[in-house]
Formats: sequence, C-alpha cells, structure tokens
Amino acid sequence: MTVAAGLPAPNGAPLGRHAVSAANPPPQWGGKGGRGSVHDPGMRRRWQLHGHAGQLLNDKVGRVNRAGEEVAHYVYRVAMCQRGMDGWGVKINRSPDHDRAEFGVLQTCGSPWHCPTCGPRIAARQVKQINLGFKAWFDRSAPLIGPEELDLESRAPFVPVYLSRALYFLTFTNQHDRERAGQGRCKAALGQQAALLSSFKSNRFFRRLMQLGGAPGSIRGLETSYGELNGWHHHTHDILFACSGLLVCDRGGQPVRWLSPLFRLRREWARALIRADMAGLNPGDIGVAKFRKLRHLLQRCFDARDGSFAAEYLVKLGKEPESARGRWGAASELAKSHLKGGRGDGGAPQRCEHASPWALLNDSMDGDTRSGELWREFALAFHGRAKLYWSPGLKGLLGVPHVDDIEFARAPDARCSEPVIELSPIQWRKVLAHNARFDVLRQAAINGREGVLSLLAWLDRIPAKESGEFSDTERWLPPPGFVEYHVGDGRKRKYWG
Ligand SMILES: [Zn+2]
Repeated sequence: MTVAAGLPAPNGAPLGRHAVSAANPPPQWGGKGGRGSVHDPGMRRRWQLHGHAGQLLNDKVGRVNRAGEEVAHYVYRVAMCQRGMDGWGVKINRSPDHDRAEFGVLQTCGSPWHCPTCGPRIAARQVKQINLGFKAWFDRSAPLIGPEELDLESRAPFVPVYLSRALYFLTFTNQHDRERAGQGRCKAALGQQAALLSSFKSNRFFRRLMQLGGAPGSIRGLETSYGELNGWHHHTHDILFACSGLLVCDRGGQPVRWLSPLFRLRREWARALIRADMAGLNPGDIGVAKFRKLRHLLQRCFDARDGSFAAEYLVKLGKEPESARGRWGAASELAKSHLKGGRGDGGAPQRCEHASPWALLNDSMDGDTRSGELWREFALAFHGRAKLYWSPGLKGLLGVPHVDDIEFARAPDARCSEPVIELSPIQWRKVLAHNARFDVLRQAAINGREGVLSLLAWLDRIPAKESGEFSDTERWLPPPGFVEYHVGDGRKRKYWG
C-alpha cells in the first residue's frame, strides 16, 4: 500500500485508493483515462511491483570510482530503474489530455524479464517490429528463395505444394519433473533446453526442411513458468517465415499431422529429448508405462500452427488483459495466469498450479516468501538473456531496423509532450522514501505542478519508510531546509526537505 492510500489528500486532490475508482471519478480528473493512464488502478500495482522487484534484486558490489573511493553499486539495474538520477533533477511530462505522465531523466534498466515498467514498453515496441516484419514478408511478390533454387526432385515428396509465403507458429517443449527442474534448477534446465535446441536446429534434418520450405529464418521467443508439481518449465515459440504447404489443415483449421511436412520435426525433436534425458523417462520404465510416457511425450513436445494464429498471438503480446489484481501485459499467456485465483483473491499462491514469473512476483509482494525466492531464482537465471531472438540476417532481409531493448525502454512516450515540473534531488529523495512515484505521476497528470508540490508538502508530514536512495554518492546534495513554493493568489507554502 502506498502512503497515499487511505489518508486524506491535500487540497482535496485525488489520491490513493479513494480516487482510483473508475465508477466514481472526481470531476477534476478531466480526460477519459484508459489502460496505462494514471486513472488505471493496474498502474499503481505495476509501480508497486516495480519497487518490489528492485527489493528482491538489490545485491550490491563494491567498485572503485574515478576519485579512487570505494562505492557500492547495484548489480542488477532494475534496483535503480526509474529511481536513479541520470542528471540534475527529474523532469515530469504529461499528455495534453491529462491522462498520462512520465518521468524524464531517470535511469532505465531495459530488462524485459525483471522490470514491470520496462517490460511492457519493450514488448509493445517489439510487437510493432514483428508486425513490420510480417508486413514486409507478405508484401514482397517474388519469393526469397525461389523454387528454381531448390532441388525440385528431392523436394517433391517432401513439400507437396509450393504456393506462396506463409507464417508458422512452432512450439518446442520438454518433459520436466521436480527432480530435474525443481527449485534451484532453473538455470541448469534453461541451459540444457537452449543447448539442445541449438544443436537440433543445426542438424542436417532441420536445416534441410528449412531449405526445402524456402525459410529464411524465424523469430524465437522464450517463456517460462513454475509449478510445485513439476518444477520449472521452459519452452520456446518460433515464428517461422517459409513458403505455404508446410502445414496441411483440415476444414476446421486443425493441422493434419501425417500430411504436414512440419510435423516430421516432432519425432526428431522427441528423439533429441530422449537422447538428452529430457523426455521424462526413468531407467525403470518398461512395457506399457514406457509406451504411455513416449506417447505423451510425442503429443506434447512439439506443436505447429498456421501463421494467422501466430500473428494474432503476437498482436496480443502488446495488449494488457485485465484481472482482479490489475493489468499486466508483457504477454497474454503471462496475463492469463493472473486470472487464476491468487492470494489476492483469497486463494493459494499460483505456484501451486502454474505460475508465470509475474505471478510469482505478485504473490511475493502479497507476502508469499517462497514465491519471492523462486522469482529471484528466475531473475538470476534469465539475467542478460534476450526475450526475442531473430535468426541472423532475417531483420536485414525484411528491412526491420535493429533496436536494443534498452533503447525501446528509454524511448519517451510521444503522448507526454507537456512539461510539468522538474524535481530537485531532495524532492526526488522524498518521493522515493515514501514510495510515491505513481502518486507523483498522477498528480502531475491531473493537477500539474500545483498538485505535485501539494503532494510533496503533504508527504513531508508523514514519516518516510525508506531511505529514498537514488545515487551512490549523495554527498554533493545541499543540506535539508525549508523549501518554499507558490500556491497561487500570492500565497506561499513551505515544507522541510
Ligand atoms: Zn526497468
């Protein structure tokens, strides 16, 4: 709970939980609100999650600065994301319709895995990039690899029809259990899956199928989840750019496996899993038990869908489905798991069934210590890994510009064009100490400069819970004192800060 919740607001300004009811918005709100706006209750939750993620990953390491002094630095950038200052002062801009506001000059972590504020920004922009790729793929009339470049004789039994361009959505997964992928095995299981997939995609069978299908490459996405029963479950989705005919569907749109060339990968992948001991088989399995396990493996380890599903799925990546616990939109699958009963709804933690990393973070913030430990384990394992991986040369082929995640996260929101205020380092420290970043944004968007200053004056009367740390070297800050500000009509107010 933030400081603003449950307390009277200064000057009658809308603050806290009392003011976020969409059913009864105060008249001074202006604007229509909407997802991601300051009127969205999910945004408060997101900022709280952001602070909590920073607390779970607040490891520090000693480094020597230019002056030769040893200072402590955060190991993981998320701890200082939207917290550490990148210069003097923190600028706040808002949108002309007073629905949105954002901080200007602040450190940004750019982590798609750890950061509840950078993650959705990165995902939304990645979706745009992928859609750009889709458009380029279907816009080109000439095939990238024409049939004349393929060995037609050998292709004939393999790819039945060479029609046009298509997209396929492939899923590679493995069997996992608590012994092999339980708590403490997240990183090891991830490395195993990555190594196996890499060797599988470089084998002759896979490369030949891609060549015959005229496939210039794919976009791979990595996902993970945790369940107490079976431990960590990593799987990858691939969007494959290739010619049509690799998947034959019936009238209901379901793939006919025995007719589809892509489904030849299924058996090969299952073999690779068995060889790598990732098929869930035990040495003692014989007879019917082994047969059942193998059949189960074959049914689950690989899936291929047509491109329309892939496009729809990826478009969904940028959306933010609603749940009782706020909105969260890094991916639709992740958001779906929020819809299941979590602790916030009075149920068991989601890890008991099937928890996405965001569900773990949510449960951890709601007080489940084990979820916090698991989220930290996930965060350390995925640190530095890309969320989406484009095949080498695919972006160039489709004319999609290469942009780093951090640049996506840093890109300012074009809607927030109106400067509101610039907070001094002391004022910023006060905001952090009270964990009131969302309240400040909300005041900036709705009531502008006046609202922010009123909020700061009001925060001054409440004891802070945190240190408000935003830099490793704060010695250059002026000593605290009374700060005066104008409230209109020539009146002045002041607060200690
Ligand atoms: Zn971040």
